[in-house]
Amino acid sequence: MIAKGGYIKDILVSSPGRTVDAHGWVKTRRDSKGVHFIQLNDGSCFADLQVVIEAGSIPEDTLKVVTTGACVRITGVLTESPAAGQAVELKAIAIHVFGVADSASYPLQKKGHTMEFLRDIAHLRTRSNTFGAVFRVRNALAFAIHTFFQDRGFQYVHTPIITASDCEGAGAMFGVTTLDMQNVPRIAEGPNAGKVDYTQDFFGKPAFLTVSGQLNAEIFALAFSNVYTFGPTFRAENSNTPRHLAEFWMIEPEMAFCDLAGDMELAEAFLKSVIGQVMDACPGDLEFFNKRIDNTILETLENVVNNDFEHVPYTEAVRILENSGQSWEFPVFWGADLQSEHERYLTEQTFKKPVIVTDYPREIKAFYMRANDDGKTVRAMDVLAPRIGEIIGGSQREERYDVLLDKIRESELSEEAYWWYLELRKFGSAPHAGFGLGFERLMLYLTGMKNIRDVIPFPRTPGTAEF
Ligand code: ATP
Ligand code: MN
Repeated sequence: MIAKGGYIKDILVSSPGRTVDAHGWVKTRRDSKGVHFIQLNDGSCFADLQVVIEAGSIPEDTLKVVTTGACVRITGVLTESPAAGQAVELKAIAIHVFGVADSASYPLQKKGHTMEFLRDIAHLRTRSNTFGAVFRVRNALAFAIHTFFQDRGFQYVHTPIITASDCEGAGAMFGVTTLDMQNVPRIAEGPNAGKVDYTQDFFGKPAFLTVSGQLNAEIFALAFSNVYTFGPTFRAENSNTPRHLAEFWMIEPEMAFCDLAGDMELAEAFLKSVIGQVMDACPGDLEFFNKRIDNTILETLENVVNNDFEHVPYTEAVRILENSGQSWEFPVFWGADLQSEHERYLTEQTFKKPVIVTDYPREIKAFYMRANDDGKTVRAMDVLAPRIGEIIGGSQREERYDVLLDKIRESELSEEAYWWYLELRKFGSAPHAGFGLGFERLMLYLTGMKNIRDVIPFPRTPGTAEF
């Protein structure tokens, strides 16, 4: 049910003269002689509704508790606003207080709290300007992603959250078990005597939270042609960085009958489309980020939307970096993985726009990437963006049974565990390609927020799982 009177975003564009009920939380209150001003916000947009309360129009005991943080319904008449930046304000006739917020103890009282402090009050930070903007953008971005794929006929597939296969060993995994930690069953005899007896566990073998849905998405691509996943992903990496979460969301499209060129085309179209959609949906929020968080945001986003991405083979990228005359923290040489500093140099100094680096050395990329004929490189592509470096990682997948089997052995992975992945190459295999990108990394890019903990509603990191 939408409250009678509508969202504040709708009230703000209504004509003067209308009587409306506005619902929301008091952001600030200012008292001057004979009149009180309230900034009311219901989360529907960045802008607040300004409410004007003339002295004597509202009973004193009600007015007393209409303080910052209180939840209220204000009935009033919309009038033309003399203030700059808003068309209408609300002249209060009656106020109903749903919930008070004691001004001595309400934590969001003052402005200018640190992000760290706000993280500790994740149940209330949602009402601040910054987090209002962050989570409206997050919503718009999620919708934009579905719109992009659905418009192109991609089917949305739900890949499992619990898995018994460790995809590419992408990172440390969380175990999932119902065994009694105080009394773990052990194997009694034989070569594995003393080890945990997982046959007694829920799934009869070790199980984990997924680190990627890609391999499952490939199953679906080889039946539905074009698919995508968009779901939660888990990594038990004990890396306390501003770019890593233990629980995050990943987007992974997978396309049959597609090679690396098609994959790059999709990645570029994807970024341009979702960024453009969010710019259209949340102009007020992005303006706020540009003003208060990072004043290059809008420029950077325009740059991505309006420029063709550069394509550079890895070998060429390494040559550019070697000849740059820069001194690097991590040395550059053919065979080394590109680090953030290198990725940023390519996008910010060399090309001044997003760059897609292709054909990486096979040693530094996952086993499932399609081998090139040179025997040294694979059909991988990373999309690098100014300001953050890698934003998308993808590849054409190895569709040839024998080559894939060789690569599984070469990577010392278990042939048995990948039996179904191998069988897909035995029965109706097809060239296919896809990519993955972290939803929160894209959020960082769009908002300019500095810490990934501040673009997800309830961050999970080492030592923290509050809320
Ligand atoms: P990184 O080197 O940054 O740790 P990765 O190489 O481990 O990334 P992939 O395994 O390729 O990343 O995962 C796909 C995408 O998921 C990454 O490009 C990134 O956007 C995102 N991602 C990876 N790990 C995390 C994490 N811990 N928290 C949030 N997003 C992540
Ligand atoms: Mn990682």
